[in-house]
Amino acid sequence: MKLFYCNLSLVLATAAGFTIQTGNINKYNSISTALYAGNPNPVFPVQYAPVAASPAISSNTNRRPIVAGNWKLNPATKAEAIELLNGLKAGGVHDSEVVIFPPLPYLSDALTILAGTGINVGAQNAGSNTKGAFTGEIAPSMLASSGCSHVLLGHSERRSLFGESDSSINERVQACLAEASLNVVLCVGETLEEYEIGLLKSVVDTQLRKGLAGVSADDLLMGRVVIAYEPVWAIGTGLVATPNQAQAAHVAIRDTLLSMYTNPEVASKMRIQYGGSVSPDSVKDLMAMPDVDGALVGGASLIPDSFLKIIQGSWN
Ligand code: PEP
Repeated sequence: MKLFYCNLSLVLATAAGFTIQTGNINKYNSISTALYAGNPNPVFPVQYAPVAASPAISSNTNRRPIVAGNWKLNPATKAEAIELLNGLKAGGVHDSEVVIFPPLPYLSDALTILAGTGINVGAQNAGSNTKGAFTGEIAPSMLASSGCSHVLLGHSERRSLFGESDSSINERVQACLAEASLNVVLCVGETLEEYEIGLLKSVVDTQLRKGLAGVSADDLLMGRVVIAYEPVWAIGTGLVATPNQAQAAHVAIRDTLLSMYTNPEVASKMRIQYGGSVSPDSVKDLMAMPDVDGALVGGASLIPDSFLKIIQGSWN
C-alpha cells in the first residue's frame, strides 16, 4: 500500500502498539513534537483492549461517516487556498459527509468554489456574543448568514494556546446552536500527561458535561452536534491512536452521553470522529471500529490527494 506523504513516510511500530509516522512534515504542518523528539518509542502505560459500547446503547449502524478538514492557520495566501479548493472540487461528490474549516478570509471562496460538491464549509471558531463592541470577534449569525453550516469548537489549540475554558466553549456551543442552520463539531481529548496517568475517561467526561451543558437532547437527536475525540498527544505529532484506543475513548464518550441525557438514542445517534494524525493509511482501520464515525483531519487536509483518500477510506 502506498505510504502517506509518499517518500517522506517512515512507519515505526512501537512496543506500545502505536504507529508512529515520522517525517510526515509538509509545507504547512509544522509539527510541534518536542514531546517526542529523539524518542521514537514512547511508552504509554495505559493500554486498551477491544471494547464494545454498553448494552444499553443500541448498536446503530446508520451513522453517516463525517470527515472534516481543519486547515488551521494555513495556507498563507488566498492563491494557495484557491488551489487547494480546486483540488478538493476535482474530487467530486462523496458518500461521507465532508466539512472543511478554512481560515475566515477564505470562507467565501470556499463556499463559491465548492458549491455543488456537497462539501460543507465551516469556521474554526465563533464567539458567543451576537453583536456590539467586541473587536475581533465573529458572531455565529455572521457565519450562518454567510453560508457556513458548521463551527469547530473547543479544539485543543484553542484551549491550550488561547485559554478557552470549558465554560467559554459551552457559551460558544450554545450561541452557535441558537442559529438554526449551524452545526457544531465539539472537540474533546486528553493531554499526554492525563493519558499516562489514566485520566482519559474523566477528562473527556468533564469536557463533555461542561461543553454540552444546556444543550437539548433534541439538538443532539437532530444531529446538530458531532463530537471529535482528539487526544492532544496525537494532534500534529504523527502519532496515531490505535483503533482499539480510539474505540475505547468513543465508547467512554457514549457512556457519558447516556449518563447525561438518560436517553440511549442520544448516545447511539451521536457521531464521534477520531482526530489526531489521521492519514490515508490509518483511516480504514480506525473506521472499522464500530464507534468511530469519521475523522477530523489537520495536516493531511491540506493535501487534496491525501484528504480525498481519507474521505474515500471513511466510506469503504
Ligand atoms: C487537528 O488539527 O484537529 C488535527 C487532528 O491535526 P492533525 O491531523 O494534523 O493531527
